[in-house]
Amino acid sequence: MGKSDNTELTKKARELLRKQVDRKLAAALETCVRCGICAESCHYYVADPRPEHVPAYRAEKLRQIYRGLFDPIGRIAPGWVGAVPVSDQMLDSLVETSFASCTMCRRCTVNCPMGVDNALVVRAIRSLLTATGRAPEMLEQLAEAAIMREEGLEYIKDLFLEQIAELENELREKVGDLKARIPVEEQGAEILYVALSGAHTILPASVLFYATGTSWSLSLFEAANYGVFLGDTPRAKRITQRIVDEATRLGVKEVVVSECGHAYTTLRWEAPNWFGKPFPFRVRSLVEVMAEWIEKGKLKLDPTRNRLAVTYHDSCNLARNSGLIEEPRTILNACVTDFREMTPNKQHNYCCGGGAGLVALPEFSEQRLNAGKPKVKQIKATGASIVAASCDNCRHQLGELNEHYEMGVEVIGLAELVVNALVLDKGRVPGKEPVVAATV
Ligand code: SF4
Ligand code: SF4
Repeated sequence: MGKSDNTELTKKARELLRKQVDRKLAAALETCVRCGICAESCHYYVADPRPEHVPAYRAEKLRQIYRGLFDPIGRIAPGWVGAVPVSDQMLDSLVETSFASCTMCRRCTVNCPMGVDNALVVRAIRSLLTATGRAPEMLEQLAEAAIMREEGLEYIKDLFLEQIAELENELREKVGDLKARIPVEEQGAEILYVALSGAHTILPASVLFYATGTSWSLSLFEAANYGVFLGDTPRAKRITQRIVDEATRLGVKEVVVSECGHAYTTLRWEAPNWFGKPFPFRVRSLVEVMAEWIEKGKLKLDPTRNRLAVTYHDSCNLARNSGLIEEPRTILNACVTDFREMTPNKQHNYCCGGGAGLVALPEFSEQRLNAGKPKVKQIKATGASIVAASCDNCRHQLGELNEHYEMGVEVIGLAELVVNALVLDKGRVPGKEPVVAATV
């Protein structure tokens, strides 16, 4: 990476942080009392107890910059207030701190007596690194690919529709109904379902939409938002805009996000702030929708079809950051016979180590797999054979932890477990019957 003039770099950092520091970030920067309680909350520290893995240590790095840029004394005599001038060297050192050593899981935040939001601080560091050309190349590419998909939609739409037609055939085979559909661009549909790349996020949901007779349309876009991982709000907003425009154009009442932690948190909680107004549609996770179907008796489930012991990994974004705690348990209690909680669980669950874009960054895989040790310990302690997770990043990381630490478990999404337990009319099980035209 080319080195910059420090004056220019300082100016850039000052402009960027001035825009970023709102009341929440200012509170996170000002209120730490350095008690160190957060250390044991962080899966990085639990896996490898080094000072660099203490959450407050990471946040202190931004405080040092902040003091140098905004504290009147820090600008004249940095040493007096522990300020550090912005330089290429110091920014380079923050790449590891923010992109490889923090998944922005907020476990430290819920355990901090002052409520310091270290994740917000880390996001601001990422933002600074992205703006100065230091973000991991893969995250940049993935964010750009999402934006290019919209710009080149007319060229890729045919290919996408072909892929969906193939999946539609699989759906028909699974439900035994030649009329079953995966609708795309369905004007007037009630739900716009936003999946991720990969049939595993489309097919099980399609079966459930079919089984419940839901009016829905599959989004042309993916739910993932790599702009968020870069700390780049303008790009994150642009990626979100595609879904907002599509939902508005189709006139849906609701956008349902696939089993994905950051995508749900982004669209549900963060994006309306970027747009400065509430969306003209409701936003829910597929997890909430499945739980509601179960509570209302819309799905006939036979839990004996999932007889192996199942444990559940609470996604940090869904549980801790969004409060989706009881919904997955409603689902699991209805579709498996032996559900075993991990300890700790719910909002206190340990991060798996794969969030905040980490699973997409092979250069940090060693740190990521090491940080997954507390999760491995939790899973092993349950004795479960199946680990359910309602976030694709978590699934990816848990799958790699499974291989790396030879856990011998199967990692699966909640929707797949529900489909396994689903009984269609006349006792049919999806995928177990020959293709016949039928009405469910
Ligand atoms: S972030 Fe919170 S828990 Fe950690 S040292 Fe600061 S005040 Fe203590
Ligand atoms: S947000 Fe999570 S990964 Fe980051 S410092 Fe806090 S506990 Fe550790």
